[in-house]
Formats: sequence, C-alpha cells, structure tokens
Amino acid sequence: MSDPEPSASRTTDKTTFDDLPLSPHLRAGIREMGYAEPTPIQRGAIPEAVLGRDLIGTAQTGTGKTAAFLLPILERLMNHPRGRIHALVLTPTRELALQAEGFLRQLGRHTGLRGAAVYGGVGMPAQEEALRGRAEIIIATPGRLLDHMSRGYVDFRSLEILVLDEADRMLDMGFLPDVRRIMERLPKNRQTMLFSATMPPEVVRLARDFLHDPRLVHVPERTVAAVGVSHLAILAPTYQKTGILVRMLEDVTMSSVLVFVRTKRRADRLARDLERARVSVGVIHGDRSQNQRVRALEDFRDGRHRVLVATDIAARGVDVEAVTHVVNFDIPNEPETYVHRVGRTARAQRRGEAISLLAPEDSADFGHIEQFLDEKIPRTELPGWDYSAPPPPRPVGGRPGRGGPPPRREFRRGGRSGRPGPRGRGPPPRREATGGHTRSRADRW
Ligand code: AMP
Repeated sequence: MSDPEPSASRTTDKTTFDDLPLSPHLRAGIREMGYAEPTPIQRGAIPEAVLGRDLIGTAQTGTGKTAAFLLPILERLMNHPRGRIHALVLTPTRELALQAEGFLRQLGRHTGLRGAAVYGGVGMPAQEEALRGRAEIIIATPGRLLDHMSRGYVDFRSLEILVLDEADRMLDMGFLPDVRRIMERLPKNRQTMLFSATMPPEVVRLARDFLHDPRLVHVPERTVAAVGVSHLAILAPTYQKTGILVRMLEDVTMSSVLVFVRTKRRADRLARDLERARVSVGVIHGDRSQNQRVRALEDFRDGRHRVLVATDIAARGVDVEAVTHVVNFDIPNEPETYVHRVGRTARAQRRGEAISLLAPEDSADFGHIEQFLDEKIPRTELPGWDYSAPPPPRPVGGRPGRGGPPPRREFRRGGRSGRPGPRGRGPPPRREATGGHTRSRADRW
C-alpha cells in the first residue's frame, strides 16, 4: 500500500533543486533558466510526480507550476525511445500552450526530448508532423487536439503521462466535455496530474473519475500576492488618471508595465492616449484577433512595447517574466481580480510593484482589497503633480466626454485612518487651490 503520509511533507521550505530527484541534465537546464531555488509547488509536486504518482496541484499561474509538471515529465521520459508521444499537457489557451512549450524547450535542452504546441487559429500541417512522431511531449488546447485526433494519425498508445493544466479555466471556457472525450481515448495505465487554482465541483468530479489515489499539493492563493510584490496607491482623480500615468512613465525604471483597465473601449482609448504621449504601447482585449494579441504580447515581451494595456480576461494567459510594474488604472471590484493582476508581476521569486491609481470613488473597492490582503496599502500623491487642475467641462446634456469628470455622487472618502468609508457617504473632497496638502489628501482619500 502507499505511504499514508503526504510525501510532500518530506520537503521543507529549505529544499533546494539539488535535494530534488532530478538528473544533472535537468539541473543544468534549471540553472540556465536562472532559477535559484524551487518554488513551493515545485518542492511539493516534483518528488511525487517523478515517482509516477497521480497528483492534484492547487496553484495558479505565477507560482512556478509549469516547471512543477514539466520537470518530472522530462525526468521520467529521459531514457524513453524517441519518436513517440509519451506525454500530453492539455491547457486552456494558446498563450499558455506556447509558454509551456517555451519552458519545455529551455528546461529540457540537455535531454534531447522534443515538445510541440498544438492550438487553434493556425495551420494544421506542422502540428500534424509533430503529432506523427516529431515530438515526445505534446502541449495542446483541447479543441484543436480533437480535430487532429479525428483525422486518425494521432497515436497515443505510448502515452504515459497526462497533465490537465488550469482545469478550472478549462471549465470556465466550456472545454471540460472535450477534455473528457480526449481522456477517454488515452491509455488507462498512465499518470495523471491535475493543476487548478480552485476546485469547483466539476473539477473535483473530473479528478474523481480519472485520477487514482492522487497526492495533494496545495499552494494557498493569497501568498502569491504577498510574496515579492510591493503595493502602492497613487491618488488620481478619474479625469487625471491618464496624465498621471504618463507622468509616472517618465520614471525609466518602469521598463515593462502592464496596465489594467475595466473595458475593451477604455483599453483602446488609453492605448491611443498613451501613443499620443509617445509611449510605446500595445493593447490586448477580447475584441482583438488572436494574431493581434499574440503580436502585442511578443512586442511587449521583447521590449518593443514598454506598456501593455489589457483587460482582465485578455490578460489571463499573459506571462511575461520581466514585468516590472502592474498598474491598476481601474480598480477592480473583486479583490481576487486584484490578486490575479498583481500576480503578473513578481513572477515566482522576482520582485515587482503593483501601483493602483486611486480616485475618490474607488475607495470602497480598494478597502475591500486591503481587507482581503490584510494589509494597509500606502497612499501617496504623485510628487509634483498639480491636483488642483479643474476637471474638463461636461458636454451639455450628455455623458462626460473623453477623460470627463467622474460622476460627483460617487465621491466618498475614508476616515482618519485612511480606511474608506461606506459607499456614498461623505462630501466630495475639496479641490485645493495649491499643492502642499500631501498628507491630508492622502489621509482623507
Ligand atoms: P508559472 O506559474 O509556471 O506560470 O511560472 C511563473 C514564472 O515563474 C515563469 O516566468 C517561470 O519562468 C518562473 N519560475 C518558475 N519556477 C521558478 C523558480 N524556481 N525560480 C524562479 N522563477 C521560476
């Protein structure tokens, strides 16, 4: 019988890569990636997974979970015959598939094992070649893989390892029926690893139906926001947010900045305004084509664009290692969204900054975020910024124009502690005629 103790407990937070059961070929790849020490999910998952055990990892993007399943795959397949598919990773988006394939190439460069990404929106022939034996490890989105499978040339008889990556997102995106269809056509005698940030009932059912005696490795979501990220709020009336962001970008240390906005229209508008201010900027949101999104991501990743403006949904698969700053141009309504956003900076063990542009009407939402993080986020004015500039005039009888003033009724303010007051209470802040009110404004806001 198997060991009743969760074996993950054998590793501690001092465990190094040298303590993990990985061969020198892989350690070389890890070193070249610049990973100094394993992340918690890697410490927990790798010893289990290299033994071929089924595994449920509750960890989200940003925790190092991709390497947590790729390294054991590479380790287990090191001496397997080439030219057959031995491992399959199912992942919800093309971006995630491409990222995982990139990590695989780098981590596995001394193993001779080959990976291929298989996803929709591009031609089939190159993928067909990979599926016909040019790769031992396939990383695929479910729909496109089923297309290939229906054509009859995909041979999974040598498959030994299956990974379901971001199972909860596959559920959100309606992919679980496709995932089940694929799983039913794979050899039963295999190792299955399931990774998911959350465990909704459908994902639990999937695990129950397809996993055998899985080990659990849990990385609490909230630690992700806490580790390595410093949080800051800069006071910014709604109609001054664009100007304040442009001024902030004069700081050259903000070299790779991901800016979050609420809607697609606001994303386009902000990108246009930044372009006008001569900031090199790309934009991704749900109305952009797959090609446009991939190009914007590549431009950002390669440093051709210093800023990427994104909506929350479009940014889900974004994994750019060098993001130095996440800017919340719009404050999210849900604290969880804040955590996801700031998880885009300080990837794994790097440090990053999360800056929120805080208008008076954002106070209640921001207070909820602080409660969720159990942390008071410091507020400050942008040094040298003229907060006394009046809002632009409202067009007669219409909605405010571009960058128009916020609806007055929404102004609220915090108490002396800076904690926001309840929604709708409190008078609008006075518009001081001069600067020099740093502390009092920051306290009130
Ligand atoms: P993931 O959660 O797989 O999306 O990984 C998030 C980021 O962390 C990626 O940029 C990885 O390259 C990076 N990463 C993964 N493992 C480590 C590690 N042990 N040390 C430092 N960075 C890592």
